[in-house]
Amino acid sequence: MEELKLVFLGTAASVPTKERNLSAVALKHLGEWLLFDCPEGTQRQMMTAGVSYLKIRYIFISHFHADHFLGLPGMLATMSIHQRDYPITIFGPKGIRQRVGQAIDLSMLKINFEVRCKEVKKGTIVDEEKFLVRAFPLKHEVPCYGYSFREADKLGEFSREKALTLQIPEGPLWGKLQKGEAVKIGLKTFKPEQVMDLSKGRRGRKVSVIFDTRPDKEYFNEIKESDVLVHEATFLQELASRAIQTKHSTAKEAGAVAAQTRCKKLVLTHISARNKEEQKLENEARQEFADVTVAKDLMEIKL
Ligand SMILES: [Zn+2]
Ligand SMILES: [Zn+2]
Repeated sequence: MEELKLVFLGTAASVPTKERNLSAVALKHLGEWLLFDCPEGTQRQMMTAGVSYLKIRYIFISHFHADHFLGLPGMLATMSIHQRDYPITIFGPKGIRQRVGQAIDLSMLKINFEVRCKEVKKGTIVDEEKFLVRAFPLKHEVPCYGYSFREADKLGEFSREKALTLQIPEGPLWGKLQKGEAVKIGLKTFKPEQVMDLSKGRRGRKVSVIFDTRPDKEYFNEIKESDVLVHEATFLQELASRAIQTKHSTAKEAGAVAAQTRCKKLVLTHISARNKEEQKLENEARQEFADVTVAKDLMEIKL
């Protein structure tokens, strides 16, 4: 299976601590990185974790609170110094273009590559052959988006030999067959099962990243059956009223979300500085959902 892994670059809420940088997650797929949020300190965490600046393809910003966004100018500066010469695309809520523009102005940056900004709405925002990414609104104090990464399903194992024996020429027709479409050459129609071993098919892996939010049914459908659900858990249940007030989630609530959406694994992040006791967070979530991990900085998960 192709490499797919997550690296937790930071795991703190609001303010960094000695043990935790502010929350960000990097996802590696086929040698490239997707970055979810970019708070201050992210670049240094990337260096430690071995996440290449030059191999970041997309950055997804959940919202414009300082603890999710302020690392961008420094990151763009470093990319520029390292002679990045191909575009980067930054997704975020309405206003992303202006915010990124202001950040570049404020820091007097001269960026020598193209920075593309895209405002997201609910729906598919990246649609590539090997994966797609969807955005969907969360319920926070300000407009905030969650994202889910979905690897393309693999229908089966394609046999080059069979295709050549049937005299199907290499090229776009092969791609169509691999996607499950029948193709026509002259009067002959070829079906995918003639060139594919369908017993080797598998469902694509799914990772969802949910930063600041109250639990909300609106996004449950988007994250359902994720192999890994990364969910914020800013508070313990004893501070449930704070969670409601500041539009965050408790660990127990995050556990309930994972259970209700039938995810396979839950990773709690965006941990409040007062939560020195990770075990408590974990136990609380575990009342609702069995496979829970409280993220630590630089922790990796391979899927
Ligand atoms: Zn936050
Ligand atoms: Zn926030």
